[in-house]
Amino acid sequence: VVRAVAYGEADAVVTFFTEAAGKVAAVARGCRSARRRYPGVLEPMHTLRLVLRERAGAELASVERVAIEVARTRLVTDLDAMTAAGTALRWVRVGCPPRVPEPAIWSDLVGLLDALEAGGGGLSPAERLAGVGLRLLGHLGYGLDLETCVGCGRAGEPGRAAHADPVRGGLVCRACGGGPLVLSPALRHALVAAQAGGAEGTEGGVALVEQAIAAHVRPGG
Ligand SMILES: [Zn+2]
Repeated sequence: VVRAVAYGEADAVVTFFTEAAGKVAAVARGCRSARRRYPGVLEPMHTLRLVLRERAGAELASVERVAIEVARTRLVTDLDAMTAAGTALRWVRVGCPPRVPEPAIWSDLVGLLDALEAGGGGLSPAERLAGVGLRLLGHLGYGLDLETCVGCGRAGEPGRAAHADPVRGGLVCRACGGGPLVLSPALRHALVAAQAGGAEGTEGGVALVEQAIAAHVRPGG
C-alpha cells in the first residue's frame, strides 16, 4: 500500500504497488465502516496478496480479496526504519507511472522492507534507503551520472569534492556552473557503488535522491 485516501462513508481509494501490474489504484469497500473489512491488512509495510476486480468503463478497480502474505510488524517499532520505508514507498508512489510493471523496483523495494524488518546487517536504514533510491532513479530512466559532468563530460576528479545537481542529472563541474550539492570523494564513491547494488556509506545520498525525484515528478503524481 503506497497510499490510502478516504472515499465516501466507509470506503477508501487505495493505491497499491503490485508485482504484476505496477502502481494500481482500487476502491476498498467497507474498510472504514464500523464492522471493518480487512482490519489491519491495508497497512503500508506488509506484502499483500491481492485480487482486484476490473469493470469495463470503470476508472478504478475494486478490491475483491486481500490478505497479508508477509507481515512486517517489527519495522513499525523502529522510527528510523519506518521513516526509511515510508520514504521509499513515497518515491515509488510519485515516481512510478500507473500500470507499468516494474519488476526490478519491486524486488528492490521488497528487499528493503525485508532488511528493515530484520534489522542489523551492518547498514543503517538511511544507507539502505539511499541505495534503493539511486537504483530507483535508474530504473525510472532518471539515473544520475556521478562519474562525469553532465555539461561537458569531463570525469570527476578522484579525491576531490564534486558538485552535483540532481535536476540536471548528476555531476556539474565548476566550469559548467556547479550544483547545489557538494559530494565528498568518499560519498561519491559510495553512491557510484550503490548504483551497482551496494549501500555502505551512502546516508548522505538520501537528499540527492529526494531532489532528483522531486525534479521529475508529475504534478499531482
Ligand atoms: Zn562540466
